[in-house]
Amino acid sequence: MEKFRHIDTWVFDLDNTLYDADTGVFDQIIARMTLYVCNLLGVSREEANALRRGYWEKYGTTLYGLMQEHKIDPQDFLDFAHDVDISAVTPCAVVRDGLARLPGRKVVFTNSSQAFTARMTRHLGIDRHFDGVFAIEDAGFLPKPHPETYRAIAGKFAFAPDRAAMFDDMQVNLKTAADLGMTTVWIHRGREAEGGTPPHIHHKAEKLADWLKETAPGA
Ligand SMILES: [Mg+2]
Repeated sequence: MEKFRHIDTWVFDLDNTLYDADTGVFDQIIARMTLYVCNLLGVSREEANALRRGYWEKYGTTLYGLMQEHKIDPQDFLDFAHDVDISAVTPCAVVRDGLARLPGRKVVFTNSSQAFTARMTRHLGIDRHFDGVFAIEDAGFLPKPHPETYRAIAGKFAFAPDRAAMFDDMQVNLKTAADLGMTTVWIHRGREAEGGTPPHIHHKAEKLADWLKETAPGA
């Protein structure tokens, strides 16, 4: 905890961070996004998957790419993409108790929707530990890693980036955070060896539960 003594605000990604990738939930969301692209453009699943990936790489999210290139209704897309079954996700007591012990303000910072974030955090039994949520609607659909969106969340919750720590499974999202002065924790999900650890990754853990177990006070 010593290295985090200066932190008063904890910023958590949702997908594959507050819930684990091995739940398969995000894979379901990806499949729904691909299906949306199939329906919208009348292309095969393979073509849709390649397009979805391309938008994600170029724009940060499939949604933002579709908004830029096809002028879709964002709420329509979000409702469709997040129409997934989360009943098989087992709430993690280590995460729940770790969040409870962590002193300071906690916020969710996600490229997912408000409704899905509310549903998932309630399901996990962790919604009451958060002081706020900054979802993709709050960002005006401009996703992480765009720096404007980080300035917007820091403004909304009035935190100083140099007193905030951010947890995310995507290194690119932590690059913007580090550039703005935030402390970063990469949830590596076993991909630790891939391409080494760049300087904008200040700390890392395989899963959020591991970091909370080892680092949150009282652990
Ligand atoms: Mg994520």
